[in-house]
Amino acid sequence: MKLLKERIREDAKIVSQEVVKVDSFINHQIDVDFLEQLAEEFYRRFKDKKITKILTIEASGIAIAILAAQYFKVPVVFAKKTVSRNLDKETYRSKVYSFTKQKEYDIQVSARYLNPEDHILILDDFLANGKAALGLVDIVEQSGAQISGLGFVIEKGFQEGGKALRKMGFQIESLAIIKEIKGQEIIFEEKVE
Ligand code: 5GP
Repeated sequence: MKLLKERIREDAKIVSQEVVKVDSFINHQIDVDFLEQLAEEFYRRFKDKKITKILTIEASGIAIAILAAQYFKVPVVFAKKTVSRNLDKETYRSKVYSFTKQKEYDIQVSARYLNPEDHILILDDFLANGKAALGLVDIVEQSGAQISGLGFVIEKGFQEGGKALRKMGFQIESLAIIKEIKGQEIIFEEKVE
């Protein structure tokens, strides 16, 4: 998506040859009008699929999931990373290794909010090694629901997640795919518009 690539080129901060920061529009400050356009693009790409719920992971996936949900007219469920006494006793759980925090954590979704009749679109901000996404796939599979596809705002194509998920046969839509971070330059895969 041209608009997104331009915004990344203008605003992203390169943290290392593997990590980019997009705090000015997704991960800290949220540019709602801009994310709204990304949400519409997710709708364009998945509108022919049956989707009854959008599933994401707290915290950074929630904003884009909510904006997309307004187009699909479905609820958003987000996996929780923190253990809370408020959470129902029956939950689906999975373990995720965090690429950015370099540690493993549990994610959980109450069994009440996913059921075998659901068709789930998984959305998140980044796809890197795919651990967060695979954790969400695991949770959907535990619930017996179907996965309609997965969408990411930014995929880092030089990491393994995209390959692993595509091999599993899912429709994966990433709005921008970073091929390489070369010094201070971000190089995109051109096939994604
Ligand atoms: P994965 O599980 O695919 O390895 O990593 C995905 C998660 O890690 C995303 O939910 C995102 O929050 C975080 N992440 C991975 N790479 C980056 C990055 O380069 N920049 C930012 N801001 N977050 C990242």
